[in-house]
Amino acid sequence: MKKTLVLATRNRGKVRELKVLLSTLPGLEVLSLDELEQRRGGERLPEVIEDGETFEANACKKAREIAGATGCAVLSDDSGLEVDALGGRPGVHSARYAGPEADDDANNAKLVEELTPVAPERRGARYRVVLAFADPGGVLGEGMHTEDGACEGHIELEPRGENGFGYDPYFRPEGYGCRMAELTPEEKNRISHRAKASAKMLGFLEGYLAGG
Ligand code: IMP
Repeated sequence: MKKTLVLATRNRGKVRELKVLLSTLPGLEVLSLDELEQRRGGERLPEVIEDGETFEANACKKAREIAGATGCAVLSDDSGLEVDALGGRPGVHSARYAGPEADDDANNAKLVEELTPVAPERRGARYRVVLAFADPGGVLGEGMHTEDGACEGHIELEPRGENGFGYDPYFRPEGYGCRMAELTPEEKNRISHRAKASAKMLGFLEGYLAGG
């Protein structure tokens, strides 16, 4: 029987990317939180309050709480955008940059507003992610394994492209003349912060799963 790995997120963009990035792992069924809830007859899992001050703290909290609530192996993703001219903001607050109920459009509007007075050469930024893996029924026990990744770039004030999610229409990856949202999903999955962390996590998981 395939081992189930639950992705501790309701962000559809993250789920879409992580499922592709993890697809080379044999013998693993990867389910989103929504899919797990559906499979369990509509059970509602508790929402994790992301009140940590670092990506690592939030990623570990999500993995620990969802693993505890489901009994499954869990992979969580805590990620965000750091803008140099904003002293690293929005950082861990990227999902709710424009307020508690903010969506991508509201967050992007706030980003453009804050960066409009900033000279283009000072709009350096990066995406960061920490992935955390927990497996309460396995040899990790209460422990967790984390990996991180970053993707350098610049913020442009005009949106372009339809792909990706979040800040991608405004983020120009280093060395590229286009926005992240103009890359195909395959191209984004070669250069993104999530791709870099996932590659390292895959290396760990291959050994971990082979060892039982
Ligand atoms: P989290 O749920 O606290 O990890 O929120 C992550 C937030 O960071 C997302 O809602 C996006 O706003 C942003 N983010 C993370 N990864 C990406 C990405 O790959 N592209 C665009 N925005 C991202």
